[in-house]
Amino acid sequence: MPRPISATISLPFLTHNLAVIHDQLNRISIEHNRSRPKIWAVIKANAYGHGIENAVKAFAQADGLAMLDVDEAIVCREKGWAKPILMLEGFFNAPDINLFSQYSLDATVHCRDQIDMLAGVSVKNPVNVFLKLNTGMNRLGFAPEAFNAAWQRVAALHTQGVVGDMGKMTHFARADERDSLTQKQISLLRHVTDALPGPVSMCNSAATLTPDYWLSLPDAPAQWVRPGICLYGSSPFAHLSSQRLGLRPGMTLRSQLISVRDIQAGEGVGYGHMFVADQPMRVGVVACGYADGYPRHATTGTPVVVKGVRTRLLGRVSMDMLAVDLGPVPEPSVGDEVVLWGEGGPGVDEVAVAAGTIGYELLCAVAPRVPKVVIS
Ligand SMILES: *Cc1c(COP(=O)(O)O)cnc(C)c1O
Repeated sequence: MPRPISATISLPFLTHNLAVIHDQLNRISIEHNRSRPKIWAVIKANAYGHGIENAVKAFAQADGLAMLDVDEAIVCREKGWAKPILMLEGFFNAPDINLFSQYSLDATVHCRDQIDMLAGVSVKNPVNVFLKLNTGMNRLGFAPEAFNAAWQRVAALHTQGVVGDMGKMTHFARADERDSLTQKQISLLRHVTDALPGPVSMCNSAATLTPDYWLSLPDAPAQWVRPGICLYGSSPFAHLSSQRLGLRPGMTLRSQLISVRDIQAGEGVGYGHMFVADQPMRVGVVACGYADGYPRHATTGTPVVVKGVRTRLLGRVSMDMLAVDLGPVPEPSVGDEVVLWGEGGPGVDEVAVAAGTIGYELLCAVAPRVPKVVIS
């Protein structure tokens, strides 16, 4: 028998989350009498830990998929994905451009070196390019003053048949905050690129869920948004829960009690005795540790659900185990179900806050040794 831990991936919930985003974009676009932005469902990092093949099935209604690993993109094509695929970091070397051409992968082009690579190859089918402008994230993208020259070089490669369609792209640094930076980034994007043809691709989950942002682009039939985390049922906002957004958990991490013991006042639990009982209490040990991807930085008090009852983590998380307070749980015994996060448990965002991180990191970090159970 394997250890009793598993991560259940719910394809219906993933599909539901995409529908929530789609319907909101649709409703607001109709209200404003403009075209609905198209959706690149972002499935980088093995679909935020949910599995590429699961994402291809669950997000069948998306207008495109976005990721950054060419091997993952090829899996999507082999599974029958025929709509656009955007590679968020483009190609890393010239030989890969042939794969982009062969598998019809749209390339983000964010630096001169990539244009040099394009200029040195010949391809069977032209590669579509989204030229990326750095509007303030200062991660990838051309500086505003370099953008036009870069555009002209790529346009020349379009004429030569190396590049296909051309679009414009940027990324926001603080779209999850109530802050004026995002509008400044959009103004800069418009200032630099409005006169150039082609679609615009912008908006992570937080910006997609803040309609003012995408509504401030000119109406055009092919604007794109790029939501990721919300599709998996985690909120991009610290101040707004996934429940309030109407999202459902794409992943549920479950395990079982493998030990139940009573301890006395003054006794400590686990490494370093980071928790010491101040009264007699019942403690459960769960088959889940940081080697499964549960965050070691989660502290006493992190929510966990045992046998349907919400309780708390105790002390330090070990490699393969963690301890929980069984005080509120009636008649606990070995084999009882524990939900670490997801359906019937705490939200992944709650666990993340208790561990000083974000839901993204927890979802991506679930270890390969944790068996995946897929609900279709
Ligand atoms: C990850 C990523 C996204 C999606 O971000 P979320 O916050 O998960 O919605 C969009 N665009 C780019 C360029 C990204 O790297």
